[in-house]
Amino acid sequence: MASGSASLMWFRKGLRIHDNPALEFASKGSNYLFPVFVIDPHYMESDPNAFSPGSTRSGLNRIRFLLESLVDIDLSLKKLGSRLLVLKGEPSQVLIRCLKEWDVKRLCFEYDTEPYYQDLDAKVKNYASAAGIEVFSPVSHTLFSPSDIIQKNGGKSPLSYQSFMKIAGQPSWASSPLSTVITSLPPVGSLRSCEISEVPTIKELGYEDIKQEELTPFRGGESEALKRLTEAIRDKEWVAKFEKPKGDPSAFLRPATSVLSPYLKFGCLSSRYFYQCLQDIYKNVQHTSPPVSLLGQLLWRDFFYTVAFGTPNFDQMRGNRICKQIPWKDNDELLAAWREARTGFPWIDAIMVQLCQWGWMHHLARHSVACFLTRGDLFVHWEKGRDVFERLLIDSDWAINNGNWLWLSCSSFFYQYNRIYSPISFGKKYDPNGDYIRHFLPVLKDMPKEYIYEPWTAPQSIQIRANCIIGKDYPKPVVSHDSASKECKGKMAQAYALNQKLNGLVSEEDLRNLR
Ligand code: FAD
Repeated sequence: MASGSASLMWFRKGLRIHDNPALEFASKGSNYLFPVFVIDPHYMESDPNAFSPGSTRSGLNRIRFLLESLVDIDLSLKKLGSRLLVLKGEPSQVLIRCLKEWDVKRLCFEYDTEPYYQDLDAKVKNYASAAGIEVFSPVSHTLFSPSDIIQKNGGKSPLSYQSFMKIAGQPSWASSPLSTVITSLPPVGSLRSCEISEVPTIKELGYEDIKQEELTPFRGGESEALKRLTEAIRDKEWVAKFEKPKGDPSAFLRPATSVLSPYLKFGCLSSRYFYQCLQDIYKNVQHTSPPVSLLGQLLWRDFFYTVAFGTPNFDQMRGNRICKQIPWKDNDELLAAWREARTGFPWIDAIMVQLCQWGWMHHLARHSVACFLTRGDLFVHWEKGRDVFERLLIDSDWAINNGNWLWLSCSSFFYQYNRIYSPISFGKKYDPNGDYIRHFLPVLKDMPKEYIYEPWTAPQSIQIRANCIIGKDYPKPVVSHDSASKECKGKMAQAYALNQKLNGLVSEEDLRNLR
C-alpha cells in the first residue's frame, strides 16, 4: 500500500484480537488504522411493546453482552496503541461515509454468511471496488468455509452430519499454528467529520438499566471468553470424556457444558483456537469422538452454518426445500403461555424463565421446550418459537438457531416424530427434587418433591401448605400432555404422508385441508 495510507477494520462479529486475520491484514503495511464498530438500528430499535426489556430483535441480555464485548475490545485495542471507533446508523451508509472521509485504501472485515450481512456486505464491497479500495474479507468465524464445502459437494450442502464430516475432513489451517498474537497496531488517523463515540452504556442507548442480579451471569468480551475457555479445558478428563447428549440439563450452578456459545456467537472466542486447544488435549489422552465429543459440538456448528448458507429460505417453512410442510396451528394464546412461562408445566416454565433471565439454557432444556411448543404438545409453528429464541438467547445465531428448530420440530434433519420429550418425566430423571424448578420458579419453592413436576395433582391441603394454589398462584396446565401429544403425533403422521405423496410439494390448500 502507498505510504500515508489508511486501513479500516470493520468489526461486526469477530470481536477479538486473537486469531483475527482481518485485523492482522488491516494492520500490515498501513500508516493508519481505523477500527470501527457500527451500532445498527436494525438490532437496537427499542420496542415499548416487547414482553421483556430490550429491542424488537434483541433482549437486553444480549445488548449488554455486546456492549461488554465492545468495552473489552476497546481496552485491548488501547493497549496496542489504538482504540475502537463507535458510530451509529445504517452500517453500509456509515461505512461508505467513513471510507470517503478518511481516504481509506484498504477495507478488512470477517466474512459473514448470514443473509442480512451478505446484503450489507455486497453494498459496501460494490462501493469499495468502484472506488478502488482493496477489500479483504476472510472466513474466520467457522472452522471451514461453507462455500468451499458446498463446492466440494457438487454445489449442494451436505444434509447430514456424517456426509458433512466426510467432505470436510481436516481444516486446511489446522496443520500450522494459528497466529494468535498481535503486539502493536498503527495509530488511528485524523477523524475528520465522522461522529465517533465511546462505547455507549445501556442507558445511553435508550434502555432502562436493570439490576445485575436479574440479568445473565455471563459477561461479554474476549478476556472473559479466554478465561472461560481456560477454565473449561483445565479439567482434561472432562474434555476427554465429554459426551453429548449425556449431561444434566438442570445443572445451573455449574452447567454441564462449556457455555462458550455466546462467546462463539460474537466471535469473542475463535472457534479455530478452541478447536486447536481441544486437539492439543486429545493428543495425549483417550477421548470421545464426533458427533458426541466437545470437538464434535464445534463441527455441529459448522454443519449448520454450511446447510444454512446453501439453502434458500432456510429460516422459513415456505420455499425451503429441506423443510417438511406441516399445518402448524396459529394459536397466539398458547404461544404467549409458552413464551411467558405460563404453561403450567414447571419443567417447561422454569426453562423459559432461564431463557428470559439468563439468555442461555442447556441444549436438552432447549430440546424440551422446542419439542413442547411444536410437535410435542402445542403444535405451534417452529418459526414462532425460533423468533422468541432469536430475540432472547445471548448466543442467538441465525444458522444454528434455525437449524435446531428445524430439527426439533421434525421439519428437517430428524424425523422420528413419535419420540417426544415428556414435560413431566424428562426433567425428573435428572433432578428428582426439582431444585432447578425451585430456583427459576420460586412460587413453587415449597412444593413437595412428589408434586413439583405436576403441581396440579397436589391435594388442596398441600397446595395451601406450599403457599401455591394451582390456578391462582401458578397456572393449571394449558393442555393434557397425554392427549395433546397423541393428537400431535397423529397430525405429524398425516403431514408426513402428504409430504411423501407430493414429494415435499404441498400446496396451501393441502395444508388447509389438514388443519
Ligand atoms: P457445548 O456443548 O459446550 O458446545 C460447544 C460449542 O459447540 C457451543 O458453544 C456451540 O457453538 C457448538 N454447539 C453445541 N451444540 C450445538 C448444536 N446442536 N448445533 C450447533 N452448534 C452447537 N446454539 C447457538 O449457539 N445459538 C443458537 O441460537 C442456538 N439455538 C438453538 C435452538 C434450539 C431449539 C436448540 C435445540 C439448540 C440451539 N443451539 C443454539 C444449540 C445448542 O443448544 C447450544 O449451542 C449449546 O447449548 C450452547 O452451550 P455450550 O456452549 O455450553 O455448548
